[in-house]
Amino acid sequence: MRLGFRHTAMQAVCTVLVLCCAISLLRINEAQTVFGEDSDGVRLPILMYHSILKDTARQGKYVVSPAVLAADLDALQKRGYETVTVSDLLAYVNDGKPLPEKPVMLTFDDGYFNNYVYAYPLLRERGMRAVVSIIGSQTALFTENGEENAYWSHVTLEHLHTMCDVFEVQNHSWSLHEYGERRGCLRMRGEDEKRYESLLREDTDQTQQLLAEAGLPIPQCYTYPFGACSAESERVLKEMGFLCTLGCEERVNTVTRQPDCLYQMGRFNRAAGESTENYLGRALGE
Ligand SMILES: [Zn+2]
Repeated sequence: MRLGFRHTAMQAVCTVLVLCCAISLLRINEAQTVFGEDSDGVRLPILMYHSILKDTARQGKYVVSPAVLAADLDALQKRGYETVTVSDLLAYVNDGKPLPEKPVMLTFDDGYFNNYVYAYPLLRERGMRAVVSIIGSQTALFTENGEENAYWSHVTLEHLHTMCDVFEVQNHSWSLHEYGERRGCLRMRGEDEKRYESLLREDTDQTQQLLAEAGLPIPQCYTYPFGACSAESERVLKEMGFLCTLGCEERVNTVTRQPDCLYQMGRFNRAAGESTENYLGRALGE
């Protein structure tokens, strides 16, 4: 009788031990699944700003006031969003580093001097980060002539050095930011394929060189002028070593552990005249 009781007790202990092992194994499996990204990935809204100016007469599709930017930033923080840059995305995709629970990427296109004047302090005092995509030839021009005008100047290499605690610098072409016969960096109708390819390579490389020679980190992301991209431009940029490209299609991205998820990422343009609530409602897709 006593032996039988002991036997049953032993069986019970063994069962509990087996169950504990099974549960911990399940947990490990679960963790591996999340890490290995068999899950659905991380939602990443990307916001797109251009000029920041106080002058109400100038506000429009690509110009918003510092007050609007500040309201957007406060609303993002209130909703629990944390800013990330391209480096954070690469660390997540390639090195298994974590992303914040609610990541958002703020991008500023063209590299206007007014970003330094208005956006830089607003972001800095809130501990937020952003990506600035420069037009290399413009940054080179204003670095050369030293002109600082919020209406038309672009950031200089010196500004970029100062701003690097907040802004990560990416490539927005050297001189292909034009919308004429050629649409941004795309091949023109009838243009020879090989000639186009070397033009795109040389143009892109000039901005890379400018930043490298100034001792700034070399861009790993290409921001398409006007969002205009093609299978051909994607191939060339990938061959050049770019690990990320930004477009202008308005959609929320899903970041997984697959490196391909960082190409042709969607972004939401911030224009004047829309309330913070409306804009963030659309852009965050909540
Ligand atoms: Zn642009």
